[in-house]
Amino acid sequence: MSNVEEIFGSMVFNDDVMRQKLPKETYKSLHKTIDEGKELDLTVANIVANAMKDWAIEKGATHFTHWFQPMTGITAEKHDSFITPIDGGSVIMEFSGKELIKGEPDASSFPSGGLRATFEARGYTAWDPTSYAFIKDDTLCIPTAFCSYGGEALDKKTPLLRSMEAVSRQAVRVLKLFGTETSKVISTVGPEQEYFLVDKKLYDKRKDLVFTGRTLFGARAPKGQELDDHYFGALKPRVKAFMKELNEELWRLGVLAKTEHNEAAPAQHELAPIFTSTNIATDHNQLTMETMKKVAARHGLVCLLHEKPFDGVNGSGKHNNWSLSTKEGVNLLEPGDTPRDNAQFLTFLAAVIAAVDEYQDLLRVSVASASNDCRLGGYEAPPAIISMFLGDELTEILASVVYETNYDQHKKTVMEIGVDVLPKFPKDTTDRNRTSPFAFTGNKFEFRSLGSSNSVSGPNITLNTIVAEELSKIADRLEADLAAGEDFNKSVAKVVREFINAHKRIIYNGNNYSKEWIREAEKRGLLNLRTTPDALPYFTAEKNLALYEKHHIFTRTEMKSRNEIHYESYCKRVTIEARTMADMAKKEILPAVMKYLREIAETAAAVEHFGADISVETELIGQLSDRTKQLNDAIKSLETIIEDSRSVRQRGYSELSFYIRDKMIPAMASLRRIVDDLECRVAKEYWPMPTYSDLLFNI
Ligand code: ADP
Ligand code: MG
Repeated sequence: MSNVEEIFGSMVFNDDVMRQKLPKETYKSLHKTIDEGKELDLTVANIVANAMKDWAIEKGATHFTHWFQPMTGITAEKHDSFITPIDGGSVIMEFSGKELIKGEPDASSFPSGGLRATFEARGYTAWDPTSYAFIKDDTLCIPTAFCSYGGEALDKKTPLLRSMEAVSRQAVRVLKLFGTETSKVISTVGPEQEYFLVDKKLYDKRKDLVFTGRTLFGARAPKGQELDDHYFGALKPRVKAFMKELNEELWRLGVLAKTEHNEAAPAQHELAPIFTSTNIATDHNQLTMETMKKVAARHGLVCLLHEKPFDGVNGSGKHNNWSLSTKEGVNLLEPGDTPRDNAQFLTFLAAVIAAVDEYQDLLRVSVASASNDCRLGGYEAPPAIISMFLGDELTEILASVVYETNYDQHKKTVMEIGVDVLPKFPKDTTDRNRTSPFAFTGNKFEFRSLGSSNSVSGPNITLNTIVAEELSKIADRLEADLAAGEDFNKSVAKVVREFINAHKRIIYNGNNYSKEWIREAEKRGLLNLRTTPDALPYFTAEKNLALYEKHHIFTRTEMKSRNEIHYESYCKRVTIEARTMADMAKKEILPAVMKYLREIAETAAAVEHFGADISVETELIGQLSDRTKQLNDAIKSLETIIEDSRSVRQRGYSELSFYIRDKMIPAMASLRRIVDDLECRVAKEYWPMPTYSDLLFNI
């Protein structure tokens, strides 16, 4: 193992490197840009670019790229070399400030949801100096935002940066009222990433894995995860070797990879980094997913980031641990030791509670995708209903605050905001509710509905914005009270009480998997948006358009175009799955079953020739030929549905999404049932692809 301290961040143009490589004045003005969002002057940019280039060349880089996050959910890059020809036929290596600050990729092939007219194919990328440049595959990567020429955001970074500013602005206002002076509040995130590893040779034999990232057929293996022997189990040597290399690569890129372990399902694992600012955490999570795939390939493995690669065992999610902290590093969701700190904590808590309740629809939309639909509501994931877990202790404290009742039955205390110190409650209680979509875990919230392949950008844009909105309402109220000469403690207590009272229906500490909860949630008026087509219409509801517009995160046009992209992506993904299924069933499975049938029929004829009993053969032939007919019918009806979807498509992706949900997905499920049943009846040597036993237990 290389020296971790030495390799950590060695491929990153971070603050230490900047201080070393840049003239003092340049370093200072760059920092003004980073800290205060001041515009960077071109002469400064030229000096920075040159220093970056020299540093990158020392590390073996030959190219640079603007690295951005278009609406595909993955990252994009277009490499240019540093070479510039000079007289005499040779070249020098150059990189200008202009090239650092702005790029103009031909953007016509990225999804824009109709934002960019075809005649204006260009977009531009703009350097985001708050995320450090780094070297990957001999290329200097410059994290950038991606916009259209009209200035509309075409990516997942621009709105995230805007949302961080919005929540900072409102949080600073609230803090000021409490006498906490700070110039900036940062939203922080630590995303826990789940994934599967499968053998590359087996993977290549399955079109479903290759084309869609998940198995579309597959009978359950005799053993699944019922023995709970994989979770936290000892790592197998091949997996260990993969993780070691993965960590080293990530550390070089400055990613704070910290925890690794086996997950619940066989072949499933998890990696968690140490939290950092939302923007960097998002960049790093994209890099983590990409590096996982790259390193796996070197070990003859494939890393599956799909939410539900295998039926019958756990799927993969991504837990988005989120909090707010001041620039100075004070966590605002950490209960404090003084009455003032506690009042402040309860105010921020009230804002989050109100935000999650009022904008449960937006949180749901932020995790909606065709692949996450396969998982939400399954037993490894929270249900589609958004609710919040606070734990019994904190809930009791809040009840005491709201109803002015005794918090502690024995001591008969009433909690008074701004006067009392919160009683200590255990931070990490062991009964931490694993079934809740949104859980308070002592000093942060954990949003657990994200799918494993989800970019964390969307959910954090949502969280930052909705909390900004509630904080702004709170600040409005407190400022007005203050101006009217009201007692501050009383005013805080009143507002917190009101907020919690109005939104307490979102708090649920029980079992989110239970049937009772579904009924109870309905009684409470909470939304249960089971599928992506159910959820997406909410994104463009008037209250949500107004919210994002108010905080300058999205314009109405940007939101409508984003929704269009979501619908389109849902439809395309499921349609690819349906086509893959029909293709595999027709060209691989049906012929395999017929071949096996023929083998049995020939056996029967041979056996009969000797006058022996052929009742087993006859029974098998009967069963198989019945099912072959069912298989053929199921293929035909799926094909018809796929064909018909073309005309539905003419009426728009939104309409198509419902057709897909109600017609295509059920037809896919019927076909799968028949195939999985056949898999259990056909001899192993005839089955045309690796099975779940092969895939899940072969590393
Ligand atoms: P779990 O018990 O849920 O598996 P882990 O320890 O694996 O927890 O992950 C917890 C994650 O929460 C880590 O990524 C950690 O860095 C992150 N985290 C801790 N504090 C904060 C915070 N203040 N803001 C955001 N994320 C945080
Ligand atoms: Mg977790």
